[in-house]
Amino acid sequence: MPDLFESNKNITEKKYPLAVRMRPRNFKEFIGQEHILGEGKLLKRAIDADRITSLILYGPPGTGKTTLASLIANVTKSYFQEINAVLSNVQELKDSIKAAKERERASNKKTILFIDEIHRFNKSQQDVLMPDVEKGNPVLIGATAHNPFFSLVSPLISRSMVFELKKLSRENIAQILKNSLKDKERGFGNMQVNIDEKALEFLGESCDGDARVALNALEVGVLTTKPAKDGTINFTLKLAEESIQKKAIGYDRDEDAHYDTISAFIKSMRGSDPDAALYWLAKMLYAGEDPRFIGRRIVICASEDVGNADPQALVVANAAFQISEFVGMPECRIPLAQAVCYIACAPKSNACYLGIDKAMKDIEESRTMEVPKHLKDASYSGAKKLGHGEGYKYSHDYKNHYVEQEYIPEKRIYYEPTDIGYEKKIKEYLDKLRKIPR
Ligand code: ADP
Repeated sequence: MPDLFESNKNITEKKYPLAVRMRPRNFKEFIGQEHILGEGKLLKRAIDADRITSLILYGPPGTGKTTLASLIANVTKSYFQEINAVLSNVQELKDSIKAAKERERASNKKTILFIDEIHRFNKSQQDVLMPDVEKGNPVLIGATAHNPFFSLVSPLISRSMVFELKKLSRENIAQILKNSLKDKERGFGNMQVNIDEKALEFLGESCDGDARVALNALEVGVLTTKPAKDGTINFTLKLAEESIQKKAIGYDRDEDAHYDTISAFIKSMRGSDPDAALYWLAKMLYAGEDPRFIGRRIVICASEDVGNADPQALVVANAAFQISEFVGMPECRIPLAQAVCYIACAPKSNACYLGIDKAMKDIEESRTMEVPKHLKDASYSGAKKLGHGEGYKYSHDYKNHYVEQEYIPEKRIYYEPTDIGYEKKIKEYLDKLRKIPR
């Protein structure tokens, strides 16, 4: 990768990938992200007024975070220094801060310290930044694909403006691709490339909002296609499909997207939408999520959200979980899907879940109750002398295998069965029992 501050002349050299050559040189060339850069928007106003304080740019890859940082440095005429948090350490960080201070003393020039993947710095590394960032030199611009409110220390967040960059839209990507086909200096403007609307649409859709992926696919397609006799390269839908190969899914097993997707998955099952649940299941499987992890969540959902409204759900879920363990992918997608559809379409009750949480809360917050004497263990010698087990009534000795007796010193209601599915039957039976006079 060339340094961002290498001259544009260098970057136009064909040895650099198209995506690097086409990095916008000014705000006019920067496409999309109007929600933060449109006229009158906060970031735009701050840049125009040269009032940039520390920034955190948060968003998926290939949406313009690095580009935006370099543009801000150009506009504000600051010295630009780039660090990648994966490759850097505390010493480099301290050296950069020291150099920034010396630069300000010697030439009155501020430094923009751009830290890519800033979430990869641990807490103490992030703390090193604090005192000087607070004083305004260097100005920190951190880029991250992770939710900064989870991955960055709060003093850093509270001293920075946080802006979220969105996945680029299909139209944005089409525009970026068209610009690179037109650009004679940096792009393919000197070649005759005819791109089908369908190919543009396809690249716009399947790059998942990542301009780098789309530009790479365009470059691979153009450079590997023989021109026709008249010199034109026909960029067809088929070529687009071959060039992009496998769609880059915005999903990483340790990242926010992972938790967001699993959350949408569970909520879709709970919300009785089998189609949405299958979509999220497919996304996780496609991204290489561990089927056992998915299986465990399905089992919990069967119990938490379906419960006794259809106890069979837990059985189906558990079977799918166990089968997934020994068949693995790709076959296990089928039992997992079966369990997902079963749960999504089953009647729902969370009465057991609510019941146990209420009981747990009581245990935590109030005095624990003694076990009544007649329920105490009477199996050891000497228990009788203590009166343990005395007066205990054995349910099966009574009519309908039921007898009233005290099971807890103070009456509590934790389980409140619903009228839904099989639980309705449970409720009717329990109501009958609870009404039997002592
Ligand atoms: P990020 O830092 O968000 O991963 P970059 O800013 O490095 O993404 O973008 C990678 C490349 O994609 C850039 O060099 C540029 O060619 C293209 N690109 C990304 N975002 C935009 C944008 N908003 N407008 C125009 N080109 C873009």
